[in-house]
Amino acid sequence: MNTESDVIVVGAGHNALTCAAYLAEAGLTVTVLEGRDVIGGNTVSEELTLPGWRHDSCSSAHVVIQSNPMISQDELGLIKKYGLRYLVTDPAVILPIKDDDALIIHPDVERTATNFERFSMHDAQALREMMRDWDAGLKVAHAHFQAGLTLADNEWSTHYHELRAKSAWEVIMSTFEDPVIRRTIMWMGFATIQPPERPGTGALPAAIIAGRLKFGWTTPIGGSSALPDALAAHVRDHGGEVIASAWVGSFIVEDGRCAGVVTSDGRTFRATKAVVTGSHSRALPQALPVESAQISDAAAKWRPGLSVFAVHFACCTHVTYRTAQGPMTSAAGGLGTPDGLRRQVNAAFEGRVEADDPWLLMVDSTAVDPGRAPGAVFKFLTIAPELRDGQPWSEAQTQEYAQGLLDFARQYVEGLDDDNILAMRPQSPTTISQHNRANIGGSCHGGEFLLEDGSVIPGWLDYRTDIEGLYLTGSTSHPGGSVSGRPGRNSAREVLKDLGVDSSTMMSRP
Ligand SMILES: Cc1cc2nc3c(=O)[nH]c(=O)nc-3n(C[C@H](O)[C@H](O)[C@H](O)COP(=O)(O)OP(=O)(O)OC[C@H]3O[C@@H](n4cnc5c(N)ncnc54)[C@H](O)[C@@H]3O)c2cc1C
Repeated sequence: MNTESDVIVVGAGHNALTCAAYLAEAGLTVTVLEGRDVIGGNTVSEELTLPGWRHDSCSSAHVVIQSNPMISQDELGLIKKYGLRYLVTDPAVILPIKDDDALIIHPDVERTATNFERFSMHDAQALREMMRDWDAGLKVAHAHFQAGLTLADNEWSTHYHELRAKSAWEVIMSTFEDPVIRRTIMWMGFATIQPPERPGTGALPAAIIAGRLKFGWTTPIGGSSALPDALAAHVRDHGGEVIASAWVGSFIVEDGRCAGVVTSDGRTFRATKAVVTGSHSRALPQALPVESAQISDAAAKWRPGLSVFAVHFACCTHVTYRTAQGPMTSAAGGLGTPDGLRRQVNAAFEGRVEADDPWLLMVDSTAVDPGRAPGAVFKFLTIAPELRDGQPWSEAQTQEYAQGLLDFARQYVEGLDDDNILAMRPQSPTTISQHNRANIGGSCHGGEFLLEDGSVIPGWLDYRTDIEGLYLTGSTSHPGGSVSGRPGRNSAREVLKDLGVDSSTMMSRP
């Protein structure tokens, strides 16, 4: 075990590992320290219900990361050399409608627009135009934004800024007319769990839908862990180490410079060039031996945002959707109307449960990747208040909420009868925050920062800190949560810049 390396990386979520892998690719010796006994953070697959049934404990869809050059250009060889394989699913998503009907989203703009025509010719055309504008210029502006780079000085960048400044709600309601289509677009636009009525979310509908229409419900073969496993294999292959069960309790700062870390079991790891931390912004000040105005400022401005609630099922057979073409399986399905979502979001911010018409994501990864279990692994994801009645969620409240979601979904899908469910494990915001200490408050997408001017950003904008040699990454860094790998890649680029290493040989722009 190296106790001295060029770089120490704290945490082995996919972002910290992404950062570590780029630094290792650049020839630096890297040691990654993960607090849990498994790597991956929220990209992890575990036996949550029955032996032999591998569930994605948190993320399932690796759609956002498909446009990161780490994957799209395979910059690190994760696909060619380290065994990472992705499936583009078709259908991308099925959205049940009452009366044995459903709207099917395909990984194809024209086929999806044709399905929209059944409800509204206007909305079918609006979808085509939205995607045409995305491909014509908004996509490049978005990629620069995600990469933390200055946008080009052109009309598409102006258009992108204008779009982003709006709310997702405003964009959807002014672009689409039909209630079924509005519901579909709203459901998809909420996939990154940002309040749809908040200004600053206006680019999400186009960005998220563009991903679904190109990559489907992108599923990593073998489970979400496939990504951190490939990244860890890359780091080790480049002379680095990835060490689990190593919770970093404090940072070493000598002469104003971060020189290493100490684990909570007393091990010291020293870094000669940099320490990059994927630990949570809120938790960082307590782990520092010196005051950092910048890190304290970030911690004070952070809040959990919307918390999530998941239910994991082991089922004998797949859940099916009633469609005009007959029963269909799908990696993903969605329920809930815009009004139901609005009530649910407002209630969650007031600390109340409101789930008469919830936004509900249903995931069956085994529909496309059957090797994960002897039957079907199925999951619900929705939002819920961080605390229930001002207290952590009790077991009884957790079961009650899960049962309510089950009763709701049973109206629309087949295969959720008691005799098809072998085991069920609900996870409240309380248990989600216990599962991964980075999910403070049960937030799943890294939470958010409330700035002085009242605006809210999902990720802290600076990867550098005011402590020399200490850098930030992870879902509390720009552009925030999701399996995007962006905070990891962006942070690595800034570390390399400060070390005088040319990153352009391994990173294409943006
Ligand atoms: C239920 C749920 C479902 C989700 N579904 C999706 C989805 O389908 N698609 C999608 O794109 N996103 C999804 N997300 C969000 C996404 O999974 C996360 O935003 C993303 O994985 C965060 O990655 P990360 O590497 O930044 O951090 P994390 O995955 O949170 O990893 C941080 C790691 O650092 C470790 N760590 C922290 N502090 C220390 C320390 N001091 N010492 C040592 N180790 C430390 C933690 O133990 C953890 O392993 C979901 C999240 C949840 C909770």
